Amino acid sequence: NANLALHKAKRSGRNSIQFFTGDMNAMISERLELENHLRKALSLNELEVYYQPQIDIESGRVFAFEALLRWKHTKRGMIPPNIFIPIAEDTGVINEIGYWVLLEACTQTRQWHESGMNDLSVCVNVSGIQFQRPDFIDEVKACLETSGLESSFLHIELTESIMLEDVEHTIKIINQLKGLGVKISVDDFGTGYSSLSYLRDFPIDILKIDQSFIRNLEDSNPDAAIVRAIITMCEGLNVTVLAEGVETEQQLKTLQQFGCNQIQGYYISKPVKAVEIKGLYKNFQMN
Ligand code: C2E
Ligand code: MG
Ligand code: MG
Ligand code: MG
Repeated sequence: NANLALHKAKRSGRNSIQFFTGDMNAMISERLELENHLRKALSLNELEVYYQPQIDIESGRVFAFEALLRWKHTKRGMIPPNIFIPIAEDTGVINEIGYWVLLEACTQTRQWHESGMNDLSVCVNVSGIQFQRPDFIDEVKACLETSGLESSFLHIELTESIMLEDVEHTIKIINQLKGLGVKISVDDFGTGYSSLSYLRDFPIDILKIDQSFIRNLEDSNPDAAIVRAIITMCEGLNVTVLAEGVETEQQLKTLQQFGCNQIQGYYISKPVKAVEIKGLYKNFQMN
């Protein structure tokens, strides 16, 4: 008898039930509020693309920036992408936002080229929802044409989960992107449902080792063994390998020893606003 059970539960833990219910309500209404607000965030100019440098270990030069989206909510301040991207995906707003980020990043990079930093690439994260849309390729073409950015300077970052969805379709889209001259990276490698077969089947250019493996990178722990193996594998596959989340000099040294090609992380710089890029670029033109 459900009623009786509820009655008993209320009697035995009234406060905890009320607390739980109140909490759930708060979570649901907060979520609804964010959902509704996110639809307007673009037109309210609350979204901004930040950029985090990627460094080539051998030359010490910054060669690319990853575009990372920021949402400055009028009342709540910064809301991290790990919170709002999933909401944008659930509500479908990700398509509009994703297109905006792509165009913004291409336009910005073209401007950097024109101001003399003409070897910079830009890496844009693309959600699985956006990637699977029938007109995704046309959107990428439109962004390249509108911005005037040469296609080889655009890298599209995909996560492993995308690669597992519809393998045939995914390979087809990746090949179309490569046909345009765009480069493909796999983001957060090693998390999710890693499968070695897609490294064989998908024509990827860059593999980004997830930051969770870099965090405890000391000479002889399991993470180091895994990172070393991934780097060696990339060498054999002719895939460029980048370590994410590098925070210390020691981590950099270990990665260098292992033969890692590129790094990104707070040790170099946090993601910054576009206006700060020129300074960063100059600082990393050593040699
Ligand atoms: P991601 O693509 O793996 O990006 C790397 C994340 O790690 C970024 O978090 C970056 O700020 C953070 N990070 C970089 N270096 C370090 C470090 O040394 N230490 C630590 N602890 N963290 C570091 P962020 O900007 O909060 O973005 C989180 C995730 O949100 C991204 O992970 C990406 O999956 C997603 N995201 C961000 N912007 C976009 C976007 O425009 N579109 C889509 N679809 N997803 C996005
Ligand atoms: Mg990324
Ligand atoms: Mg990542
Ligand atoms: Mg991620």
